[in-house]
Amino acid sequence: MRTNDILEKLVGFPSVVGTPNGDVIDWISSYLSSFGINAYVFAGPEGDRANLFATIGPADRPGYILSGHMDVVPATETGWSSDPFTLRADGENLYGRGTSDMKGFLAAALAAVPALVAAPFARPIHLAFSYDEEAGCRGVPHLLARLPDLCAPPLGAIIGEPSGMRAILAHKGKAAARVLVKGRSGHSSRPDLGLNAIHAITEVLQAAVTAAAELTNGPFESEFEPPYSSISIGTIHGGQAVNVIPDVCTLDIEARAISSAEPQALLAPVKAAAEALAARGFEVDWQLLSAYPSLLLASTSPLAALLEHLTGIKPLAAVSYGTEAGLYQQAGIDAIICGPGDIARAHRPNEFIQASELAACQAMIEALGLTCRLEPEMGTEQ
Ligand SMILES: [Zn+2]
Repeated sequence: MRTNDILEKLVGFPSVVGTPNGDVIDWISSYLSSFGINAYVFAGPEGDRANLFATIGPADRPGYILSGHMDVVPATETGWSSDPFTLRADGENLYGRGTSDMKGFLAAALAAVPALVAAPFARPIHLAFSYDEEAGCRGVPHLLARLPDLCAPPLGAIIGEPSGMRAILAHKGKAAARVLVKGRSGHSSRPDLGLNAIHAITEVLQAAVTAAAELTNGPFESEFEPPYSSISIGTIHGGQAVNVIPDVCTLDIEARAISSAEPQALLAPVKAAAEALAARGFEVDWQLLSAYPSLLLASTSPLAALLEHLTGIKPLAAVSYGTEAGLYQQAGIDAIICGPGDIARAHRPNEFIQASELAACQAMIEALGLTCRLEPEMGTEQ
């Protein structure tokens, strides 16, 4: 199948984050089995969605992982010129939800399979396709937990997030949490009888704002923009009417961590301020929504050198968006980002990828395949 046709198939499955993904899994599994490749499908704890893992070559030797996520963000934004789940070609541009982020990479990897299976491999190439990455990398930890049973410890993982086919060595880590403070409602004329949750949560807000301001003083890592860790309050909800004491208030907050910082630890002063409210009769709930660690691959690592060789371009030091790469690194596997398309086109109407970008990615994967081939033994042929 041509890459464009594979992409058309993948885009046609509306595998929106947080929803079942059996259809796209089934299609990929049967595509792989037509080349004699067995895909392992592992349902996550949700039960209705799964990760997929497949190996080309000897699984008991260290090899390389091609990592991508099968889920896409919803296509509910206005401004789409055509159905987001029907691939539309217009010249070089192929429009559809997930074309850049990141079914384009999946299509290029699947289109490379015929070339990869053509010669015996000394080192394997694995396909590791995850679910619910867009919900804060929720799916891939379940795949990583199974990895030791599936293959020898890999030499590296290539995370195919859109990077213009330039390898990227680092990204920030992230933790997101929801804070719920519950007090006691009542008529606002008798504040002495209630517990005002909005008044109380201002102490949590203040702790967050103070911590955020302190982080701008460093520590610094100059490859990131901004070069320091950050904290941001994203939403706040509470109250019913001006004459009712609000009993519940919630806020969503996130921390973005440079590689020397731990994302959840950045939120510790905020969590402490929330928990302190319990002593005054409030119920406090702190729910971690998602978390993934930062990525930092040494520029001198063999994986960085390999990607420079495969792409012909020096790796970029860092990007500000997060990926599954940090979780691979945390699992003890060197990881690097390199994929087709542009992150600026992701999560927007009329998301697209160019046919030439897909071709460049497929060429990179086939070139990786060449480095994994079994060298024919000298002198066996007369
Ligand atoms: Zn993505």
